[in-house]
Amino acid sequence: MAYSDKIKEIYLQELKDIQDAGIFKQERFIHSAQDADIEVEFPQGSSLKKVINMCANNYLGLSSHPDVVKAAHEGLDSRGYGMSSVRFICGTQDIHNELEKKVTEFLGTEDTILFPSCMDANAGVFEAILTNEDIMISDRLVHASIIDGIRLCSAMHDTFKHSNMKHLEKKLQLHSDKRLKVVITDGVFSMDGDMAKLDEMVELAEKYDAMVFLDDSHASGFIGKTGRGTHEHCGVFGKIDIITTTFGKALGGASGGCVSGRKEIVEMCRQKARPYLFSNTMAPVIVAGILKVLDILSKSTERRDKLENNTKFWRKGLTEAGFVLKEGDTPIVPIMLFNAKLSQDISRDLYDEGIYAIGFFFPVVAKGQARIRTQISAGHEIHHLEKALEAFIKVGKKYDILGKTKQEIIEMYGM
Ligand SMILES: *Cc1c(COP(=O)(O)O)cnc(C)c1O
Repeated sequence: MAYSDKIKEIYLQELKDIQDAGIFKQERFIHSAQDADIEVEFPQGSSLKKVINMCANNYLGLSSHPDVVKAAHEGLDSRGYGMSSVRFICGTQDIHNELEKKVTEFLGTEDTILFPSCMDANAGVFEAILTNEDIMISDRLVHASIIDGIRLCSAMHDTFKHSNMKHLEKKLQLHSDKRLKVVITDGVFSMDGDMAKLDEMVELAEKYDAMVFLDDSHASGFIGKTGRGTHEHCGVFGKIDIITTTFGKALGGASGGCVSGRKEIVEMCRQKARPYLFSNTMAPVIVAGILKVLDILSKSTERRDKLENNTKFWRKGLTEAGFVLKEGDTPIVPIMLFNAKLSQDISRDLYDEGIYAIGFFFPVVAKGQARIRTQISAGHEIHHLEKALEAFIKVGKKYDILGKTKQEIIEMYGM
């Protein structure tokens, strides 16, 4: 017997350790389309509950937008369901090429290459463009998929303290002898909702002859005056050498990602990036949906403007109610609770009140930094936010944390 009791025991023990540590992840089954209002089966086997979704990456509310669904149907009818090939054999349709051109224009770059996901884009890009003579210098809080891409690359690696430009400059000086240098950052950091100091980063990169890599997955479509991303917001549109982003968040929320940037870099990815060469093409139905998303966003800033207003309303409401928030102005709004159990208790009570918002704690965030992370969407109407606010206030009162400082909450509940 290959899968012996001994092997089974090893896995069961490890799974038990995960459970004992209180970090066992359980899926919640959603029985409706992704939207502001969803129907959830949780715990599994219980009857369906209607809740307001406050934790999707559906920033622009496009995941179930009728025009996007219609365009996807049309794409399905005209180009079929699947391509049964990677891009370079027989998996490239005219619409893949059209989408790459549209993304290039939207992000203000020279060229774009699609990947099955942004995780794949990040996993493939570094090894495709760097060698062991080169150096990658990354922010210490970059996304897990970037860390994997760095692991898969033979170039040297160093880090700088989160958003600390003095420290970055030191590292650029330290590595001035390397052939190629890449500074690596997220645009908006997903746990705190803070933004990279891209303007300063571009300045430093120019001074020290380095390239800038930006993963704008939590920004593309809504950050910046016309929603082009963090580079637009920071006044360095057109100056980023390599941008990766996802189509799985604001840009329709289905799946897919890309590397967009300097022409030669994109061409190197087409020749060498392994997830591009060895994983299947993006399905035509998804490509057709994203084309419609970009069409909607290029015509009007209505949705990102609504998102901005919703975010202001939500932050103001929570602040006036006396919650401790992470400062910022992105639609990622973390409500700080510091204690892991408190974040779980409050999340559960909110669910009972019809509000779906997940608590995060170590190891997803640092110890003593437990929180409920809410994410605002243009799919929310003010009545959704008012109802959510009412529920937060009710639960906040129950735990007596309204108007309390960080120190007071920690004294009451511990870290
Ligand atoms: C979500 C996310 C990804 C992964 O995107 P997928 O397309 O779902 O693989 C990569 N980077 C960042 C910063 C993200 O937030």
